Amino acid sequence: MEKIHVLIYLRKSRGDEEKDLENHKRTLIELCESKGYSYEICSEVGSSDSIEFRPVFSEIYDEIKNRENAYEGIVIHDYDRLSRNGKDLELIKELFLNNNIKVITPYKTYDFTNEADDLNADLMGFVAKLEFKQIKKRLKAGKIAGAKAGKWVNGTPPYGYIYNRADKTLIIDEDKARIVRYVFEEIKKGEALYNIAHSLNCRGERTSKGKLWSHTAIYRMATSHTYKGTYVYGKTKGSGHKNRKTTPIERKDSKEWIVVENAFPRIVTVELWEVVNQILKDRKLVGKKTVASLTPLSGLIRCGVCGSSMVVQKARKNKWSDTIKKCQHRDLVTNELCKNRGISVITVLNLVFDDIKNYRNELIEYLKNAEGKDKELEAIIKEIETLNKDIERYTDTLERVTDSFDEGIYTKDEYISRRNKWMGRIEVSEERIEQLEKRLKLAESVQIEDKIAVLDGIIESYNNNLSDKEINRLLKSIIKDIRLTRIGDEPLKIEINFL
Ligand SMILES: [Zn+2]
Repeated sequence: MEKIHVLIYLRKSRGDEEKDLENHKRTLIELCESKGYSYEICSEVGSSDSIEFRPVFSEIYDEIKNRENAYEGIVIHDYDRLSRNGKDLELIKELFLNNNIKVITPYKTYDFTNEADDLNADLMGFVAKLEFKQIKKRLKAGKIAGAKAGKWVNGTPPYGYIYNRADKTLIIDEDKARIVRYVFEEIKKGEALYNIAHSLNCRGERTSKGKLWSHTAIYRMATSHTYKGTYVYGKTKGSGHKNRKTTPIERKDSKEWIVVENAFPRIVTVELWEVVNQILKDRKLVGKKTVASLTPLSGLIRCGVCGSSMVVQKARKNKWSDTIKKCQHRDLVTNELCKNRGISVITVLNLVFDDIKNYRNELIEYLKNAEGKDKELEAIIKEIETLNKDIERYTDTLERVTDSFDEGIYTKDEYISRRNKWMGRIEVSEERIEQLEKRLKLAESVQIEDKIAVLDGIIESYNNNLSDKEINRLLKSIIKDIRLTRIGDEPLKIEINFL
């Protein structure tokens, strides 16, 4: 009789460690051997819940869909390793049912052609979900109870406080608390956040992590409820990872927040906190009005010199006058304005579409000679690793240079020239990594044809009468950001980072 061929699928779940995965692997191999199955093994690196962010599983999914009798069973440790996401589970189940694939766990085998098993599987998925929710609930209840008792439960305490390990409370660090009060007073006087950050940096002050102050760090400080003694839980939901692997972070309505007053010692009075936060809120509204209407490039442009996002301004009259404004970023130490100039949206947009056409052709070229790429992939990954190590070294040196400037060992000019040297090296390495990652993505992508179809759609759209908003949405579906560099009389340079 021919052996039953199965696939062992390993995936880290929340809270699993490397050795857990090793244990699972051993158990599952033993299971296959005891039953006399022939098997293949694959493991997912990430622990994301949704299929589209689990590349290995997506591949298996496609393989099963496209290759008849690829496997007769999938061997997993628990049913919930497949997915906790109801919609995904539904998809997976349908796929398994249509291809006559059983799900084999050490405890039970699920055959979806059998109705009772189907029900069982649903229940298992449901139970897994329920357990996860319960864990989250307990965590939340614990945090609220802690806050009510004045306990600090959120990890590193905010700047200006010291964590008292013995009774888990916060104590005011008077030296730093003075800085916090200074920041609040300055905002109350109407000072810009940039200038506050700059003056702190000039005085040699650093954040709790030893970094230079930035206007965003100042903003975060001024809006933190902790400084008026209040504990706020549940401002956001989702975990907001950068790579969109999890539910995106989302602000909850303030009515849903859990607020505990007088949970911690106050650094500023409630009155001062309220005044400052009203000021910040008003400023934000002014800002919002000016960027209310979208241009095709809104939210996509970053400064090629300093990396900050650049403001794209919609013109009142016609779209030919939309402009990308000159970079507004100020250097954290010198407070000098970035030298990157602005330009009209339409100029950049034309270049962007040229690049999209080139990118499309690159993809087609790639498809033509897609074979024998494994060696190349390996080499790329190795090079990225080396570059990352280099960057770490350069960053350390850069920090030492900044320290020496603080200590008065370097003059400002010396400091700037040394800093630029190391920042330059970091930048070169980062650029190379970016290139390599682009190639990696290209080489790994299984859905290049789909991508080409999308690009074709976008190229076509340029000639059609789409609204700015629609073009913006299309561009954002394929582009992460566009780096724009235009200094003095040098020609404009743009670099597009495709998703
Ligand atoms: Zn800039």
